[in-house]
Amino acid sequence: MPERINPLPQAFFDEMPNLSFQEVAYRVAQQFFGEDVPAEDLKRIVFDTLSFDCPIVKVEDNIYCLELFHGPTLAFKDVGARFMARLLQYFSSPSGEAGRGTVNVLVATSGDTGSAVANGFLGVEGIHVYVLYPKGKVSPIQECQFATLGQNITAIEVDGVFDDCQALVKSAFMDADLNAHMRLTSANSINVARFLPQSFYYFWAVAQLSEELKVKSEELRKKVVCCVPSGNFGNICSALFGKRMGLPISRFIAANNRNDVFYEYLQTGEYRPRPSVQTLANAMDVGDPSNFARIYDLYGKSHEAIAKDISGATYTDEQIAETIRQCLQETGYQLDPHGACGYRALKEQLRPGEVGFFLETAHPAKFKDTVEAITGQPVEIPERLATFMQGRKQSVPMTKDFADFKAYLLAQ
Ligand SMILES: *Cc1c(COP(=O)(O)O)cnc(C)c1O
Repeated sequence: MPERINPLPQAFFDEMPNLSFQEVAYRVAQQFFGEDVPAEDLKRIVFDTLSFDCPIVKVEDNIYCLELFHGPTLAFKDVGARFMARLLQYFSSPSGEAGRGTVNVLVATSGDTGSAVANGFLGVEGIHVYVLYPKGKVSPIQECQFATLGQNITAIEVDGVFDDCQALVKSAFMDADLNAHMRLTSANSINVARFLPQSFYYFWAVAQLSEELKVKSEELRKKVVCCVPSGNFGNICSALFGKRMGLPISRFIAANNRNDVFYEYLQTGEYRPRPSVQTLANAMDVGDPSNFARIYDLYGKSHEAIAKDISGATYTDEQIAETIRQCLQETGYQLDPHGACGYRALKEQLRPGEVGFFLETAHPAKFKDTVEAITGQPVEIPERLATFMQGRKQSVPMTKDFADFKAYLLAQ
């Protein structure tokens, strides 16, 4: 948790519709990192990182989509991963010492984190990235995006589920021998440098809505609903931090697939983590979301306060498929399985007088086979994605036993 969250002045919100994405993001970044990074350096990091847009697209009356898939790996995690890579590079002094000088990033992925982090850090000097992913549980396209890169990126194929990968990473951070042997850092959304930058595009979404609807931010504050397809809850958590800074959003919806411990928490007040199950929206297959603790803390451990700002939703694979089909038929908009959860929850829960946007967290081409089987329509693969698929897979096989992972790292 940051020590404090500084609200942005009203003047910023009045000015926001006239600013570019990078300018909006830079102002938000100053609130978080301004005390630690000089203005010019921070500005350069923000402008380099956000070299692609996150546009708001109208899908139907009162329902907008914030498209977060225009970055290098076609998923929202590019924003946080690129920002974090640049920030980490900025902070880790260019050291000539061999071995100990290298910063080792450990990242567990259920699909998209691995590709975003690997591509964000690819070729960055002084940093080595280990991507842990569950064998057979990420799509072939996702796997290509991190397992074919080589250079300073090592892909580790774990015989287990995502939660096993996450447990290995967490154990590694707490292991005294490993920490004495090498410098370790996390790139999952437990890391603030990766998760806070995600708040940037929520401000940009509201700026665009303000322009599109020709209404001031003060009015939006009363009627904008934001729906976030959630797994580890880093994305929505960054929006909740944004709200503390004054982000004009009235309430949130967290859309889950069948991995719905958070949904259950909202209903019952009890948080009961359990092993994840595999679904069509695999980047949300998380049974014990890391950022639950952060949300809990942000709201002073009050279930009532959390449930006041956030409502939940949960969908089966059948419902996800039905939603992808229906949305394409009725609106012409092609959803991916994650965005489908967001779209459906927003459509079901939007009240009269409200305007909502959901996040489309990945390009449908990342789930080409799934989506095509559902709709019967071809999904075009963007060129960036096609390039990855020509690479050769080079992964290290691993059991889910921490002793094996530790031995492997100690040998590096
Ligand atoms: C990571 C991811 C999510 C879930 O985001 P969290 O921050 O873990 O809640 C949703 N959709 C896609 C495509 C993702 O890659």
